[in-house]
Amino acid sequence: MMPPAIRNIGIFAHIDSGKTTLSESILVRTGAVRSGGSVDQGTAHTDSMPVERRRGISVRAASVAFDWKGVRFHLIDTPGHTDFAAEIERSIWPLDGALLLMDAAEGVQPQTEVLFDALRRQHVPMLFFLNKMDREGADAAEALRQIRRMLSPDAVWMADLEEWREFVCASEESLMERYLAGAEIQEAELWPQLAALTAAGQAFPVFAGSALRGQGVAELLDAVVRLLPPPAVSGAELSGVVFSTQSDKTMGRGLLVRLFGGRLENRMALQVETGRDFATGQPRLATRKITQIRGLAGEDLGALEAGMIGVVYGLGDLPVGHVFGAPERLPRQVRPGALQAPLLKVQAIPEKPEELHALRAACLALADEEPLLQVAFLPELNQLQLQVMGTVQLEILEELLRTRFGLAVRFSEPSVIYKETIRSAVRGYIDYTMPKPCWAILEFLLEPGPRGSGVSFASTVPFQQIQERYQHQVEQALPLALKQGRLGWEVTDIKVTLTGGCHHLEHTHPLDFIVATPMGIHNGLAQAENVLLEPILLAKFRLPADCVGHVISDIHTMRGELLGTETDGERVMLEALVPVGSSIHYPTTLARITGGRGAMNIRLHSYRECPLELGATAPRRTIDPVDTAKYILVVRNALEGTLFEG
Ligand code: GDP
Repeated sequence: MMPPAIRNIGIFAHIDSGKTTLSESILVRTGAVRSGGSVDQGTAHTDSMPVERRRGISVRAASVAFDWKGVRFHLIDTPGHTDFAAEIERSIWPLDGALLLMDAAEGVQPQTEVLFDALRRQHVPMLFFLNKMDREGADAAEALRQIRRMLSPDAVWMADLEEWREFVCASEESLMERYLAGAEIQEAELWPQLAALTAAGQAFPVFAGSALRGQGVAELLDAVVRLLPPPAVSGAELSGVVFSTQSDKTMGRGLLVRLFGGRLENRMALQVETGRDFATGQPRLATRKITQIRGLAGEDLGALEAGMIGVVYGLGDLPVGHVFGAPERLPRQVRPGALQAPLLKVQAIPEKPEELHALRAACLALADEEPLLQVAFLPELNQLQLQVMGTVQLEILEELLRTRFGLAVRFSEPSVIYKETIRSAVRGYIDYTMPKPCWAILEFLLEPGPRGSGVSFASTVPFQQIQERYQHQVEQALPLALKQGRLGWEVTDIKVTLTGGCHHLEHTHPLDFIVATPMGIHNGLAQAENVLLEPILLAKFRLPADCVGHVISDIHTMRGELLGTETDGERVMLEALVPVGSSIHYPTTLARITGGRGAMNIRLHSYRECPLELGATAPRRTIDPVDTAKYILVVRNALEGTLFEG
């Protein structure tokens, strides 16, 4: 069977350029929705949540499907703000082409440049749409000049047939000769050539119109079909990526998957990696079965073919960024690492104390859809703690909770999530033989590992001395033991070697080694010099020249390090490393300094040693394993209690 013609595209835009209005206009025109919604009246269809309707901005990805002249479009929604590089990246993974939307009266804005760069880096072909041409002050010629100057000289103004005919002819020798000889070159001949240039990133066709009045929208859709490529496919071997998730009341968690190669179908069993084995470093595999596959319009697909995008159920908690098959086969570079753990924690406080549990449930529901949000409830403090990437995210969260769940919430001042390690090698020892009945003796060597190496485990103890299954338990208990080090943070960059100890054939109980491990590890950590590690951001700034001095001086004040600057016309690009801790509120400061003319885009770079007096320790959330008598009592009484909750 011939696969249907498909275009997988995303619309990227600076906030307020009209992305929602354009999506809406497209959906109405193609008959995908019955009546026209309106951003201003709060009835737009791609904004799937009331908050987005009320606020008039797109917060969350809502991907939709529609048909235009026999071609199936998958319109993947994209982040409404550009603060986090990782968020932009994950919306690029599934795409074969992009529309970059601009407000014709505003021209190229800092966020336009951030988006253009991200798309270009991943080799995504692009069309520009100058929106709001009906607006007073709309100036297409000036916007075009800015695109050419600030983004690419290869912008092709499509409203002028003669101009783009000339551009295309100039790209190819035989066309050029005929053109110069005065031959009439038909449009039909020019489109495929322009499509090839667009696909190669050598042309950026520019269209114009008004999403609000529906002007230029049909032409834009025609242009997508003619100029943006059909889905990239990579062959029969399974290749795909999870780029988002959505939850469904009856089906559970669905994964939005872009498939590049192979095929997924209902009831298919897949071996998926669910983490790595501490001892061997090998991936841990689990078998999961697909229960259903749906299209973006909610229809039951039964199977997903290469080139398609669909929602796959039954694969459990696979994270956004999960890759099916070999990562090298993907046409886009997928860096799930960039999506890793949030960097800030903050306490969420309900305005009405009795709503704490409703708030917890609401946050958990949101965390399900948002990889950069994590929720923990601390029962002993009766506190709801959130982990997030940045303060912009908190603003959105506050609105979401209010409008979607009717919950008023405020947040404490966010604090940094540090990590810790040890300065030099130490030994840890535990003799867990009292109070009887129990028997587990352990001896560890703890050594610092290189920065970024994480945790590794090895054993030099023969199985006659400590049975294999007990050694396995030690390894299993390790993440728990290292969850909070002596400074209160997760311990990382450490090599743990089991060097001694023994079991007892009669006295050892099944869980004794699990109980003993944290005590043995903390016995070692308590003797070590504990080193605080702080998260460092790679920040990319785009600034008007007159603000550069101010920002550079701020970077130094924030204990940052300037990596380089690059001047391009009247703008300066600046790269710097800055600690998360000293830059929490910098996006707000930057907006003030630059009057909104600057942009800052961040990603996690690394963890670096930080003087304790500039950082913070965290209170212990569970019983301290160094206090062995109390620890043993508590753990024995409640093996499944808070200690093992995680
Ligand atoms: P988004 O933030 O990019 O999704 O932008 P919206 O679609 O929410 O539009 C922001 C504002 O611009 C709304 O008030 C829209 O009515 C308005 N708008 C969108 N498209 C047009 C247009 O073509 N012409 C005019 N005059 N206004 C528009």
